Amino acid sequence: MAATSTDVVVEPPGDVRCDVAVIGSGPGGAVTACTLAEAGRDVVLLEEGPLLALEATPAFSAQEMRAKYRNGGITVALGSPGVNYAEGRCVGGGSEVNSGLYHRTPHDVLDRWRLRFGLEHASPDEMAPHFAACEEDVSVSKLPGPAPAASLRLHEGAGRLGWSSIEVPRWYRYAPDGSSDGVKQSMTRTYVPRATGAGCRLLPDTRVARLGHDAGRWTLRCEPARPGARASSFTVRARTVFVAAGAFQTPALLLRSGIKHNVGRSLHLHPTVKVVARFDDVVNAPGMGVPVHQVKEFAPHLSFGCSISQPPHLALAMTDHPERISDVHEDWPHLAVYYAMSDGGVGRVRTVPGFRDPLVSFALDDSDLTLLADGLAKLCRCLLAAGATVLWPSVRGCPPIRSEADLALLPAILPRDRTSLMTIHAFSTCPMGQDRGRTVADSFGRVHEASGLHIADASLLCGPPGVNPQGSIMAFARRNALAFLDRA
Ligand SMILES: Cc1cc2nc3c(=O)[nH]c(=O)nc-3n(C[C@H](O)[C@H](O)[C@H](O)COP(=O)(O)OP(=O)(O)OC[C@H]3O[C@@H](n4cnc5c(N)ncnc54)[C@H](O)[C@@H]3O)c2cc1C
Repeated sequence: MAATSTDVVVEPPGDVRCDVAVIGSGPGGAVTACTLAEAGRDVVLLEEGPLLALEATPAFSAQEMRAKYRNGGITVALGSPGVNYAEGRCVGGGSEVNSGLYHRTPHDVLDRWRLRFGLEHASPDEMAPHFAACEEDVSVSKLPGPAPAASLRLHEGAGRLGWSSIEVPRWYRYAPDGSSDGVKQSMTRTYVPRATGAGCRLLPDTRVARLGHDAGRWTLRCEPARPGARASSFTVRARTVFVAAGAFQTPALLLRSGIKHNVGRSLHLHPTVKVVARFDDVVNAPGMGVPVHQVKEFAPHLSFGCSISQPPHLALAMTDHPERISDVHEDWPHLAVYYAMSDGGVGRVRTVPGFRDPLVSFALDDSDLTLLADGLAKLCRCLLAAGATVLWPSVRGCPPIRSEADLALLPAILPRDRTSLMTIHAFSTCPMGQDRGRTVADSFGRVHEASGLHIADASLLCGPPGVNPQGSIMAFARRNALAFLDRA
């Protein structure tokens, strides 16, 4: 029987000793805690965010953003243009709020990481058992029924142009009746209750402020993450620590703790530009479900897909065309949001004394903005081929696109002062590998020269995977936790 979030137990407050502390309960931390607890280790899993059931808030709603995202999802990487980004902040991390689209790390990406970072023992053959195990654990599967209409439109447009487009599987468990309604297999549905079932102690609403090392043990200075959640600060002492606080917070915690070598210097994102498309027939409906198709013709540097397109998402995507926002209210069944995602640019995570959140910056050079402009033009072409009658790209002042001839109106390079970029994929702030000049941790996530300190999340990925990242994060977390057990 599937585990549910009600199986989770919560540790009462007080100073804590354990064998292994895992900081952050997103995909990296949850897989790590589960693997170690099921092997009999005494594990404590610390999570800054609250413990909320998957169904505590409607999926993709404003309530969900307030309850389960950091800062309500309103966070920005400074730059020209800036990039809006979002992080989950709850037990289960990003897995509780995401779309569940699953990919393995592409072979050429693993090869690039080997050559550039000296990443060892991570060939496609060596990674395959870890992908397979995680796929089984979270029920990676394709839709049993038809995909949402807006998703199919993109697929059809690509087909008409002869471009490769795929249905991406997701971590969902479907009812045996073949209906497309399923339950997302987020961390609170899978690895977290498995971990606590194996004896792991879960401490939600607990922010680890700083790490120290004293007499052969790591000390974690913990503080309440929301007023009234816990009486006062306390300390966790552990022989081994796995930091899995996500691509922004992991480097921030290491920097706050005085661990600096290469930390936070190589942030990569998948910068994404959006388009609102109008079709004459109906393509949208209340609770239309998650779009599942992605155009992969121009991978690894460009991928296209359809986003969640409920009225609030449409209104947000239309903010570059303020005169059209009021139309969303009436016209939304004919509208959907699409994206072109690239892999360019590099950024940095820094800490600022006295502030809780890190300062994130991200730089895109002209070639990155040219690549994104090319992606935008190709996406528009695909949507016109799909039957869209009007397209509004997320570039302020860009006229609506109604025909192939109008594609010439799109900028050849995205204007720095008028383009809205966003991302939900961040990584590489603490890359792994044997090349110490470029990395923070070795090929198995052990922080260089910090015995007993490991990293276990998106920070470890050496660069942009070019695909949705959670599959890579889970597989590397499992591989590294098993390697740790083998060595111990
Ligand atoms: C809206 C959205 C949609 C997405 N869709 C997809 C998708 O379809 N497919 C896909 O593959 N990926 C998707 N992603 C990305 C995916 O969710 C992330 O890559 C993944 O969750 C990262 O896992 P992680 O373990 O590195 O960190 P996170 O999931 O970010 O988890 C880190 C956890 O650590 C906690 N934490 C942070 N700092 C501290 C601290 N100091 N002390 C204690 N706890 C701390 C945080 O609260 C958080 O819960 C999406 C992301 C978002 C936001």
